[in-house]
Amino acid sequence: MITVLRIGHRAGRDPRIATHCALTSRALGAERIVYTGEKDSDMEKSVRKIVDNWGGPFEITYEKSWRKVLKDSGAKSVHLTMYGLPLQNEISKIRKARDVIIIIGGEKVPMEVYNTVDHNVAVTSQPHSEVASLAVFLHEYQQGKGLDKKFKNAKMSLVPQKCGKKIIN
Ligand code: SAM
Repeated sequence: MITVLRIGHRAGRDPRIATHCALTSRALGAERIVYTGEKDSDMEKSVRKIVDNWGGPFEITYEKSWRKVLKDSGAKSVHLTMYGLPLQNEISKIRKARDVIIIIGGEKVPMEVYNTVDHNVAVTSQPHSEVASLAVFLHEYQQGKGLDKKFKNAKMSLVPQKCGKKIIN
């Protein structure tokens, strides 16, 4: 089971990037995303609409406390941060765990997160984005298998084309 935990969501300020975190999680192999910070029903609705149309299983839920999410999860916790140890050196240890919870931040991540998790992992030691680090981590963690994820109960699906768009309803 792959869970993503996004901490510090600010409703009205970053709904687009939060939606992209959720859609990237879903597309590349995670089963659920939990977010903390401010509850954002519109953002949840837009993610659920994608799941409804394009399939699942995928869940989005809000939790007030990231501490509680980590405490309850029982999974190996991996915080993605530019300050962590290089992904390429850590990934084989992390893959040994059956369940993983991947923590991504927004503006500022409390130091307590760094001290609580099992691994602080950097996807390069350069600043970039939670969406990019999440995508690369999911790809590496699953050794590329995230690209072949199958979706169930979809109302719509694509037939890949060399050129053009073909959607089956
Ligand atoms: N200084 C922050 C940090 O700790 O990585 C950058 C904040 S960035 C706006 C928001 C989020 O993107 C971070 O909380 C982290 O999850 C992710 N992120 C940014 N650069 C990263 C990197 N090189 N490796 C892993 N995660 C990164």
